[in-house]
Amino acid sequence: MSTAKARTAYAKAILGPELHHRIADTKVLIVGAGGIGCELLKNIVLTGFGKITLLDLDTIDLSNLNRQFLFRKKDVKQSKALVAAQTAAPFNPNVQITPIYGNIKEPQYDLEWFQQFDIVLNALDNLDARRHVNKMCIAAQIPLVESGTAGYLGQVQPILKDKTECFDCIAKPTPKTFPVCTIRSTPSQPIHCIVWSKSYLMGQLFGEDEDAVGELDEAEKQGENAQEIATLRREALAFQAVRKALRSSAASGAAKLVFQKVFDADIRNLLIMSDMWRARAPPVPLDFDAILDETFVLRPDEPVSNGKLNGVSKPVNAVASGSKAPVNGTSGNDVGSSAQPVAGSGLKDQKQLSLKDNVLLFVSSTERLAARLQTGEATITFDKDDDDALDFVTATSNLRSAAYGIPGKTRWEVKEMAGNIIPAIATTNAIISGLIVLQALQILRKSYDKLRNVHLQVKPAVPLSTITLCPPNTACGVCRDTYANILCDPKRALLGDVIKGVLGDDDREVSVYEDKRVLSDPDWDDNHDRTLESLNVTRGMFLTIVDEEGERGTISVGLGVLPADHPADAPPFILPDPLPRPPQRMKVSPPAPETPLRVSLKRSAPDDTGGDEIIDLEPTPKRPKLNAANMAIKSPSKKRRLDEDGLILMEGKDDKLDDDIIVID
Ligand SMILES: [Zn+2]
Repeated sequence: MSTAKARTAYAKAILGPELHHRIADTKVLIVGAGGIGCELLKNIVLTGFGKITLLDLDTIDLSNLNRQFLFRKKDVKQSKALVAAQTAAPFNPNVQITPIYGNIKEPQYDLEWFQQFDIVLNALDNLDARRHVNKMCIAAQIPLVESGTAGYLGQVQPILKDKTECFDCIAKPTPKTFPVCTIRSTPSQPIHCIVWSKSYLMGQLFGEDEDAVGELDEAEKQGENAQEIATLRREALAFQAVRKALRSSAASGAAKLVFQKVFDADIRNLLIMSDMWRARAPPVPLDFDAILDETFVLRPDEPVSNGKLNGVSKPVNAVASGSKAPVNGTSGNDVGSSAQPVAGSGLKDQKQLSLKDNVLLFVSSTERLAARLQTGEATITFDKDDDDALDFVTATSNLRSAAYGIPGKTRWEVKEMAGNIIPAIATTNAIISGLIVLQALQILRKSYDKLRNVHLQVKPAVPLSTITLCPPNTACGVCRDTYANILCDPKRALLGDVIKGVLGDDDREVSVYEDKRVLSDPDWDDNHDRTLESLNVTRGMFLTIVDEEGERGTISVGLGVLPADHPADAPPFILPDPLPRPPQRMKVSPPAPETPLRVSLKRSAPDDTGGDEIIDLEPTPKRPKLNAANMAIKSPSKKRRLDEDGLILMEGKDDKLDDDIIVID
């Protein structure tokens, strides 16, 4: 038997000659070439798929090499898609892999582009991209196999328009957030200080010069303490001065200025609000010079040597001395100097830092970041793999913790908490990738009754559980829409013409959205004679046409480009044929109508780009919106079944697997 035949003999025997022959011509799109993507590409190539497009926006990082086995050290910084394709192509001489180094959300990957594929396989690591691909596949009517892993957990979900639930049929929990004031004034846990440091302080010092007033206005509306908000506003203003110092060429001393503002003056301002500290321990302002001189006393009346801070038994990490300092009999009160030997000091990252260590780390990281600003970096945002940023967040969160009597964290722990890292496990990725292929083969066989949602779980007796697919959630705002594709020139096509064209002789009253932006409604057609481009509605986006009476389903029109040979004097768009006709639906009694906020066109300059007139709104009440509450009403049976089986629903809020906190590869 020749090598080529031997290579495919088993696959052919398993798949049967017909399917085996067919998959050689099946066009597959794999989105993601990371942990799952590498395994999946290998599987797909070895199964005998012949026409593969592989897209990923990332480059290879050293930390990928322990599990993304298509990459080698020499490939670091190269495109994942390109290198994966080069490595996997020789696995099967008959395969044709088209790698794309790009973002799946770019406009050229529009509906028409998706429609060239027979099946799409997701190997993505973030909720946003997964939802986007879900919507595109639903709109293009292309089967999708969705997947995700987090540590030892994983799942595979086949998605077919009108047959199964889509990725958005079940509401996903939003990432955990904290009240503004907990983060800004009254932290009580290390994570509060880490979030403050990476999301707030880094932004204030090294991010764009944005005004924090909006956030504070919102917090005030939410009923947070008005006096406190006023203090925070003053604090925001004072940031201007230190921002300037960090960016000036003579920045030496800027770190100390930042320190004195953030860890001394700001804390003193907060202390003025005595009400705030009636029921909680007040923070202690830190003294830069005294800490460096080792004469600083954090909390003189509370000995640290007994492991208690503010009456609560806690580790003394925040105030413990540097790891090299011997126990030298210094008073335990003197937390600025060596008071305790430190455990786990073997590795730099796992060393407990003393107050002085943190100040030194703060100075050095602030200086490194300031130098980057002065040599041309416009802004620096937190990235767990950016050593300067991680050092800065480690030092500043620990200093804040010390001021508030909260235990400190090692650099390693800060990296984990700030990056919200759940370790990626190669075997989980391998199992999930295998399951993706099995589900994909069922789809290609059209054995729809054999499709299953598969969950990999931490249950030794039942490592894999399968759930029969549920029909779409009738309230889903994604897969219950009727989709169509319109080819147009957004520079010339007018919103009103496009809407009229799509509706044809259907004279229902409609509102039109792009995502959450209202573009028109029955009482407001000011935008109808504007071009789509001026409304910032372009290729790859959707116009969503919502029936005001709620009698018919919603129409979502994807925007594509006109063919190259489209005559210049012809209408600037080509309508879908046939026109989309959403099904009649059960009339639900609509909530009291709300008048959408909007700004009259008359007040705007005629040539403005349109952003001003369009107000971001939640979709109207009539456009069904998923939330936990209506899920409970819509599909109680499913929820119960999941609970009874004890199955792990990856998106379940109890799993703490909010997408943003998962590194899924
Ligand atoms: Zn859906």
